[in-house]
Amino acid sequence: MGKSKLQIPCTCEYCKNKFLAKTTMTRYCSKKCANDAYIAKVKAKKEETRLQQLVNKIPSERQYISVKEAVLLFGISRETIHRLIRNGKIPATNLGVRLTRINRADIETLFPLANSPTPFLSDSQPQKLIYEQNECYTIGEISEKFGVSPSTVNNAIRRNSIPKRQIGKFVYVPKIEIDRLFAKK
Ligand SMILES: [Zn+2]
Repeated sequence: MGKSKLQIPCTCEYCKNKFLAKTTMTRYCSKKCANDAYIAKVKAKKEETRLQQLVNKIPSERQYISVKEAVLLFGISRETIHRLIRNGKIPATNLGVRLTRINRADIETLFPLANSPTPFLSDSQPQKLIYEQNECYTIGEISEKFGVSPSTVNNAIRRNSIPKRQIGKFVYVPKIEIDRLFAKK
């Protein structure tokens, strides 16, 4: 039994450089990258917890939300929301500096999940998921699985028009779409 002479061409999951791995389990080109990736993961987890705590503070029955809350709840950027308000796409009530309030339902109307390129919601049962919950990831799970921050996940979902669904405090996205998207990277 000699030593394995395997030289597997790999791409480091952290720095994205190509390197030759000795085992199929190797994910990073160096100890430093493995360490940095771990730190990034811990940071992302902390950030996610922080955001989740903020989301948890928004009462689900409250109809009028702030821009900040809309960013948290819908995963759309502050810039997008302000642009939509400027364009009159979202009616907003300005209660003073930094006190803009928007109707949650108006954003839900603007980002209808039924119009997603892939069928996520069926027409006959607009509120029912076609993808069962066990066929979906939460943002946190994606972030954990692929070692990327929740904001990166949200951006990727938005950029690629991946259907998502908010149920209570969690956003669900079909596993199949996410696996396909992140597998490409
Ligand atoms: Zn590396």
